[in-house]
Amino acid sequence: MVRGRRVVTPAGVVAASIAIRDGRIDAIGDYEAVRAGVALDEAGDLVVLPGLVDTHVHVNEPGRTDWEGFATATRAAAAGGITTVVDMPLNSIPATTSAAALAAKRAAARGKIAVDVGFWGGVVPGNLAELEPLHQAGALGFKSFLVDSGVAEFAATPLEELELAAAEIARLGSVLLVHAELAEFLEPAPDDPGARRRHATWEASRPPRSESEAVAALAEIARTTGCAIHVVHLSSNEGLARVRAARHAKLPLSAESCPHYLFFASEEVRDGGTEWKCAPPIRGAVEREALWSGLANDSIALVASDHSPSPPARKALDSGDFFAAWGGIASLQVALAATWTAASARGFGVERIARWMAAAPARLAGLESRKGAIAVGRDADLVLFDPNATFRVDAAKLEHRHPLTPYDGIELRGVVRRTWLRGRPIFDEGRLVGEPSGELLAR
Ligand code: ZN
Repeated sequence: MVRGRRVVTPAGVVAASIAIRDGRIDAIGDYEAVRAGVALDEAGDLVVLPGLVDTHVHVNEPGRTDWEGFATATRAAAAGGITTVVDMPLNSIPATTSAAALAAKRAAARGKIAVDVGFWGGVVPGNLAELEPLHQAGALGFKSFLVDSGVAEFAATPLEELELAAAEIARLGSVLLVHAELAEFLEPAPDDPGARRRHATWEASRPPRSESEAVAALAEIARTTGCAIHVVHLSSNEGLARVRAARHAKLPLSAESCPHYLFFASEEVRDGGTEWKCAPPIRGAVEREALWSGLANDSIALVASDHSPSPPARKALDSGDFFAAWGGIASLQVALAATWTAASARGFGVERIARWMAAAPARLAGLESRKGAIAVGRDADLVLFDPNATFRVDAAKLEHRHPLTPYDGIELRGVVRRTWLRGRPIFDEGRLVGEPSGELLAR
C-alpha cells in the first residue's frame, strides 16, 4: 500500500491511499483508509505519479547493442520514472519490419528488462503483407519515415505507398506513427567544414516547411484512409499549425513533441555540439514557445523522449560536423526532469506531466487498460517524485550505455526518489533494486 498527500489521479491531485493486489491497483481510498496488517509506503508531501510511458525509444538491440541495449535502456527508464518503454522498429538489426524480426527483438529483450517493453512494427517499402502478421504478433502500432532514416535497412516510404499501408493499418484498427519531414524541402549539406560545424547551418538545412508539408500530406492520408496517424517529434510552429488544422477538421491525427525541443533552443547550442544533433533539428526559442502553447491547448497530445543514442565515435566529436554526426539525442533517464523543469517554469502542474507522459502515450499504444494512470485495475506502476529538489546531470552516472547527452552538466528540477513496477520497487534512492522484472507487452 502506498499513500500520499499529492497522488496524481485522472480526477486531479488528491490525498489518497493506494491498495495494491497482485501487481494491480486494487482500490484508491481516503488518505486515512489504511488496511490493517499491510505494509505501508508513506509518500508524505512528495508527489506520486503514475509510472511514465515512453512511446519513442530506440533500444537498438539486437544488431547495434553496442549503441544501446535492453538492459541499459530499461535501467535508465526505471531510474527516470518510466515504467513502460515502447521500442522503435529501427536501429536494431533486424529492423522490426516482419513478424520474424519482432520475435527476434522479443527474444533479445526477454529476461533482461527492468521495465515493461512493447514494440512498434515498421512500415518500409515492400512490406505491406507483413503488417497483419506483425499486428497479430503483438506490435502496438507501426512507424514509418518520409525521409532517410539514417540506417540503410529502414528505407523511407513514398507517400503513395504509405497511403496503402495506412489503409491496411486502419483495417487492422491500429495506429501509424510517422517521421514527418519531406526530402524535397531539405537543403543539401555545404562543403565548408566551418559551416558544417554550425548548428545554425544544420537547422537551416531542415526548415519548418519540410515538416509542415509532411504533416499536411499525412492529414490528407488520414482523411482518405481513416487511419489514425501520429506525428512523432513535432518541432515547429508551422508543423503545429498543420496539426491543429487537421484536428479542427476532425481528422484522426495526433502529435508528440520531445524534451529537447521543449527544453533547449537553438540559440543555446554551441558550434560543434553534435550531442544536440537530431532531425528535425532543435529550433529557436520562438518555436519552442509555440510548442508549449500546443501542449497547453492539447494540439500536441504527448511528450516522448526519442531517446536515440549511439557510440560517441559516431557523433563526430572531433570535427563537430553536424552533417557527419549520428542524429539522435540520449535522454531517457532525464526526460521527466527536463520536461518538468521547463513545464513548471511555465506554470504547468504535475497533473499535466501525468497526461503528457503517462495517460496519452498509454492510449496511443493501446495500453490504457493496464498503463498510464493511477486508477483501479491498472498496473501498480508508480513514481515517488520530488518536484522541488534539483540535481546536476552527470552523464557518466546515467544508466544508458554511453555517457553522452546534451543535458550533461545542466541543473534540472525534479528528482525520482522511487519507482514501482506492478507494486514492487525497482528503483530506490539512486539505486536499481531487485532482478529485472519487466514484461513484454502486446496489443
Ligand atoms: Zn526516433
